[in-house]
Amino acid sequence: MSHHKDIFLDHASTTPVQPDVMGVMLSYFGNHFASPGAGYELGHRSRKALEQSRERIAKLLGAMPYELVFTSSGTESNNMAVLGAAYARQSDGKHIITSSIEHACVLKACMHLEHLGFRVTYLPVNENALIDVGALEDAICDDTILISIMHANNEVGTIQPIEEIGRIARKKGITFHCDAVQSAGKIPIDVRKLHVDLLSISSHKIYGPKGAGALYIRKETKIEPILFGSGQENGLHPGTHNVPAIVGFGMACQIAGRDLENNYIHIRALRESLEQQILDRIPGTRINGYNAGRLPHISNISFEGVLADSIGANLDADNIFVSTGPAFRSYGKVLSRVIVAMHVPPEFAYGTVRFSLGWENRNRDIKITVDTLEKCISSIRAFSGSDSTDKICIFTFPDKESAVSAGRIIATQGLPFTLTGKPEDIMQVPCSHIALACLNDDQPEIVTVLKEQGIEIAGIHKIDPQCETTVKKEQDFWVKVEEIKKERE
Ligand code: PLP
Repeated sequence: MSHHKDIFLDHASTTPVQPDVMGVMLSYFGNHFASPGAGYELGHRSRKALEQSRERIAKLLGAMPYELVFTSSGTESNNMAVLGAAYARQSDGKHIITSSIEHACVLKACMHLEHLGFRVTYLPVNENALIDVGALEDAICDDTILISIMHANNEVGTIQPIEEIGRIARKKGITFHCDAVQSAGKIPIDVRKLHVDLLSISSHKIYGPKGAGALYIRKETKIEPILFGSGQENGLHPGTHNVPAIVGFGMACQIAGRDLENNYIHIRALRESLEQQILDRIPGTRINGYNAGRLPHISNISFEGVLADSIGANLDADNIFVSTGPAFRSYGKVLSRVIVAMHVPPEFAYGTVRFSLGWENRNRDIKITVDTLEKCISSIRAFSGSDSTDKICIFTFPDKESAVSAGRIIATQGLPFTLTGKPEDIMQVPCSHIALACLNDDQPEIVTVLKEQGIEIAGIHKIDPQCETTVKKEQDFWVKVEEIKKERE
């Protein structure tokens, strides 16, 4: 196992709860547990805490507290905005504009609306994942009622021209929703300057707890509820409030606003260092969205001729955690929508990894990560180059420790291999999320060596013999997985 602490470089997926945030939440699980809707003193205390959080969140966004509705997540805020605005304005028209790189919760809400008879335009993006404002203007029809464009993309971090879009939408009387789940707390947001009518944010992306989100709704914006029940949040989000999470969310917003500038400088410097070191030391790399305005914490890098799953598994073996899925699924035919939309060449696209940094990362984390990456990319490439004619096979193990130990032992034998990811998709029995790929001809020797060393093997799986390279073999392997899954459905 590694000699360093865990290195978490997946902050765009979620963040740890800040200690001060956890501190303020605690009493709302115990002493101050009452429902904020209750008429007695204990309820009033919860209500007060709720409203204080609303003020803190509003301040981060330049909004008024009464313009915020609490939700349970960014997903729910986005659903509420897209569906709620579309339902409320359907008598004005049935056309919606969004982009092809929105988060799944916006895209799937739009697709749902298509089933209900709405028309949706999905704008393409350029190589930096940016939409063309001219194309957006051209897409506007007489019956366009809603535009939903994300502030910054969650995979590459590039920032859309929201202010410009907001101006156009406002002039035309079109409701404008912006998904700011990734950008809130990372770059300044002022809802007035952006000319948005609706804006979504989420607590767990900014060191708050999971289970809380908010939707900014500009005064007089037409929106219908998508949930039904009691009257909480002006009837838009019925159900008893999750007071501890909301209190934590408020505190997280306050801290994010207070530390925004320092964090921006610190995190962007780390990212620049990461990217520069990778470019300097690892050939065949490409930073996606490099030339566009980006959020400070996201770096999306493609490594030529390598599968992202192998990179992820090799880093994971050293307790370095990055994102290679599910948005980055590199196996089977599934490639990230964003990477496809950006026209990243296929020889790079399958090796795309998202590194996303947080304020608790240090230079040392970056150095260790690049050292590990340099080693693993060259060993994966060596493995890919070694088996142009041979078949490969995948070993799975009962747990991660066995997989990592197996890798160490095989390395001492000088046999070509690489660690790879996620074979449990086809396993009947539980096994590690890290597997080991080797040449099929080496399989008997590897079995003997591992047995001698007391390493338990969970399964051995041969990969399609017609494949020419490891990359292709692994892809085909995962295509098969998808086929098997489909057959079972
Ligand atoms: N929108 C964007 C841009 C995101 O990155 C995410 C989460 O990754 C979401 C929406 C969904 O947020 P949540 O996880 O709070 O539901």
